Amino acid sequence: MSKINIYSLLRRFSHLGGSRMKLAALWTMHVTKRRYVGVYIDTVLACNYRCMMCYFSNESERKKRISGKLTNEQLEHIAHSIFHRTIKLQIGCGAEPTMDIAGALQLVQLGKAYGVPYIALTSNGALLTYDKLHALVAAGLDELTISLHGIHRDTYEHLMGPTAKYDAFLSLLQSIRRIKEEFPQFDVRVNYTMNADNVDELVDFDTLFRDVPISQLQLRPVRKIGESEYQNFDLTHVAECLDTVVRPLAERCRQRGVVVLFPEHIHVERFEGKEKVSARENLIPLFTYINITPKSYPNHDIHFEKENYEAYSRRIRVGKRLFKSIFATQKQCAKEEQSLTNSLNYDIR
Ligand code: SF4
Repeated sequence: MSKINIYSLLRRFSHLGGSRMKLAALWTMHVTKRRYVGVYIDTVLACNYRCMMCYFSNESERKKRISGKLTNEQLEHIAHSIFHRTIKLQIGCGAEPTMDIAGALQLVQLGKAYGVPYIALTSNGALLTYDKLHALVAAGLDELTISLHGIHRDTYEHLMGPTAKYDAFLSLLQSIRRIKEEFPQFDVRVNYTMNADNVDELVDFDTLFRDVPISQLQLRPVRKIGESEYQNFDLTHVAECLDTVVRPLAERCRQRGVVVLFPEHIHVERFEGKEKVSARENLIPLFTYINITPKSYPNHDIHFEKENYEAYSRRIRVGKRLFKSIFATQKQCAKEEQSLTNSLNYDIR
């Protein structure tokens, strides 16, 4: 299948009117055996960084994740089982994929071999030398997302922890510049987590990335995800900077073709996780995202070594459940949400 713009596809999907319509579209894709599943894989649950806003900065959280890595054979089983129904393969979700660069490369190669239309990798980039990134892109990596928590050296090295190396990040930017010349279709995005200590320096983002051909900057307010060293989750200053820093930056970036995604308003309730989402809407990621880690693999609801996605779907009646959820009441959807969360072993991203 030719390269598709996964974001325009997802945008169109998200604009479908209401969750019933989305579920009906999913059911149609399911019964017509189309690709609709997003597969998120961490081949290893480790990271070379200890970002202050991340659970990797907390020793007991780190210990919980110690789990070895997915083997070559396990990656092949996963690919054989579900990649023919995969619309997007995301490598690196809750950890750093370059800690197992061979696994990341194997996944890109498998994704290509099974015709996955979009293959993305999220990384802090510190271990991605020119040769490693070149190998991934030459093998078919469509997109790199760089995780970034500071523009200036001191903020970067403070917020990204004691092992962070700003010079490695600058080298990555040089590598990207060279690789984009050879592979112009290769897409680079930046994810920046805004907090009270790093939002002001976004004014210098476009200076730092002046010669780096990126397509998108996503700005997200800090959220508490597990225990971490960082403790300032007050978004008041971030909200103040939307007008003074973020919107002017977005306009400057727009003029050079870089899309900046940011919340129009900071709703404190939303970012504290108090926002209510309908039970039917909650079902959608449960039907469409599969998250696999070395920890989940042995007990995953999909028996990758014995069944493909169709056999698995028959076993747990995915088609019937999708169809029923189009017409179910919110109460029935909430019950189904609970049942899917318990049985599917999926993490919602
Ligand atoms: S690079 Fe990502 S996974 Fe690693 S510590 Fe930072 S936020 Fe966490």
